[in-house]
Amino acid sequence: MSAIMSRQEALIGQTLEELEELMRRWGEPSYRADQLAQWLYRPVASLDEMSNLPVRLRDQLAEETIHHPCSIQAIRHSRDGTRKYLLSLDDGELIESVFIPETDRSTICISSQVGCSMGCTFCATGAQGMVRNLTAGEIVDQVLQVALDMGHTPSNVVFMGMGEPLANYAALLKSIEIINAPWGLNIGIRQITVSTCGLVPVIRRLGKVGLGITLAVSLHAADDQKRTRIMPINANYGLESLMQALHDYVRDTNRRITIEYALMAGFNDSEIDAAQLVRLLGGLLCHVNLIPVNPIRGGRHKRPRLDEVERFQSLLRRGGLQVSIRKERGGDIEAACGQLRGQWEET
Ligand code: SF4
Repeated sequence: MSAIMSRQEALIGQTLEELEELMRRWGEPSYRADQLAQWLYRPVASLDEMSNLPVRLRDQLAEETIHHPCSIQAIRHSRDGTRKYLLSLDDGELIESVFIPETDRSTICISSQVGCSMGCTFCATGAQGMVRNLTAGEIVDQVLQVALDMGHTPSNVVFMGMGEPLANYAALLKSIEIINAPWGLNIGIRQITVSTCGLVPVIRRLGKVGLGITLAVSLHAADDQKRTRIMPINANYGLESLMQALHDYVRDTNRRITIEYALMAGFNDSEIDAAQLVRLLGGLLCHVNLIPVNPIRGGRHKRPRLDEVERFQSLLRRGGLQVSIRKERGGDIEAACGQLRGQWEET
């Protein structure tokens, strides 16, 4: 087996350059790398389908490499068309991805880590702790596995599943390159969103790279004390440093930031909370998404009623912010990240 084809480095997850290097080492002409990339990054289940590759090369690939680093373990279908996938990795770990169909597009929400070390109190993945980072191949293959099941590639990709994507920075950048590249999945950079809990130094690094993705920040409280209670990361990077990093990010990338605000009844949905949020976000190029919290089993946060969510939205609007309420999808299949994996492991 070649050195680059370890568990971490399945065929899916290789850049065109890396495939060229592999073909060179195997004594193949360089155009084979283009052919291989074209097959790898479309929904193709087996090497046997790669009809323009010689049989001997397909045999060598089958013998010496891993094709797909993920496989589908279970699928849950929601009444609204949302599908939640439990995927197994070759070391037996489990991750989740969610497919969300809409009228004019389709979105896949993917995971970046097995578990997560950030410990947000409203999150089922946070409650499971950190296991390991995903490889770029395991990240990209989530999109391909769902595309194989659905029969088409989703138009949008959001890194909002299990894990903190910015804590797995190298694999994140490599997977974005493959998802976006014309030789890869060819999904537009504007159709890719990366969500973070607020790792300030990495937000700054990402801003300097100037990728053109959409950055989404899980804020959930506009007061340091309150935010630290639900998001331990805030003790390291408080709101002042986070906001400074976000202003700099907008200056560096000219991209509007999405602010995620999970509304928790009686915790962060008062008039005072709204006024603090308006003050904090004033002057930042951003759009606020209000998300009625999805209560987790054994969790202490409660979902507010819709009229309370709408009241909070109008307070923010009156304060000059752009705000939407995120429509819940897949509520009947527990589509929030970490819930399915948690249940599977309990059974
Ligand atoms: S919300 Fe995101 S960052 Fe926080 S624990 Fe869950 S997966 Fe990790």
